[in-house]
Amino acid sequence: MEIERIVVIGAGTMGHGIAGQAALQGFDVCLVDVDEGRVKAGLEAIAGVHLKGVARGKVLAADADAARSRLRGATDLAGAVAEADLVVEAAPESLDLKKALFRTAEAHAPARCILATNTSSLPITEIAAATACPDRVIGMHFFNPVAVMQLLELVRGESTSEATVAAARAVGERLGKTCIVVNDHPGFATSRLGITLGNEAMRMFEEGVASAEDIDRAMVLGYRHPIGPLALTDLVGLDVRLAITEHLYREIGSDTFRPPRVLRRLVRAGHLGRKTGRGFYTYEG
Ligand code: NAD
Repeated sequence: MEIERIVVIGAGTMGHGIAGQAALQGFDVCLVDVDEGRVKAGLEAIAGVHLKGVARGKVLAADADAARSRLRGATDLAGAVAEADLVVEAAPESLDLKKALFRTAEAHAPARCILATNTSSLPITEIAAATACPDRVIGMHFFNPVAVMQLLELVRGESTSEATVAAARAVGERLGKTCIVVNDHPGFATSRLGITLGNEAMRMFEEGVASAEDIDRAMVLGYRHPIGPLALTDLVGLDVRLAITEHLYREIGSDTFRPPRVLRRLVRAGHLGRKTGRGFYTYEG
């Protein structure tokens, strides 16, 4: 099926990134959040990303203008999905919240609409089972920052149809992404490995093996990672990482995924990384 109208749920780090890229590639996009302030901030962040793209010569000014005209914001999910071909949910990493959002989206979207979640770790099959259309539910796991990262991890639930996988892949390719298709296991192919490295880096930091800067330099300069594991944790959001590792610890049981104490402590203190200006590092502005 042809997908032209996309609704993105959640205007945070990932939601605004997905919506901005989709608008730039010619999709008609609605960005939905419960919080009107977050919708406004999300739309402003998208404009900022597009302007930066223009300044760097990566985006044509006319394309950025056209993208703006194809983008709108909303707080009413039921109304927003009425004409949607694809819904991409990027709300917080909570299974109950995602199930509730999928029920609402299914109830108000057209019967053709594909329902995708950007979850980093939660079971697609269980989210799909909360709806009456599990064949149209899929994981579309984008990476941060969405405009830059090349991968799109498509996660096939127990009942996801091949037509749904094909439609999601076509959208991913139009967004310039390289798709991998993964079966529905906790943390899929990416988060399970990424969290393993991040948790171990946090435990090394706690044990005083080295400073945050030097732990990160070890991976960047020694292993050619583009960013160190602690800086990446700050970029993703410490609250998001904590929710993922708590879920993986419950599901897989391995101590590898036991949330590091320093992660809990920083989240309790409200130090969530770049988005709050402080995590393992401090950020200006
Ligand atoms: P975030 O906290 O930055 O944004 C979440 C947004 O959802 C907020 O704006 C919040 O107001 C909104 N929200 C909360 N309840 C809502 C509701 N009922 N309806 C609509 N909006 C609601 O989170 P994020 O980092 O963008 O993560 C979103 C999802 O993407 C999570 O499932 C996360 O695991 C996944 N993910 C995150 C990253 C990352 O690097 N941050 C990468 C890949 C996947």
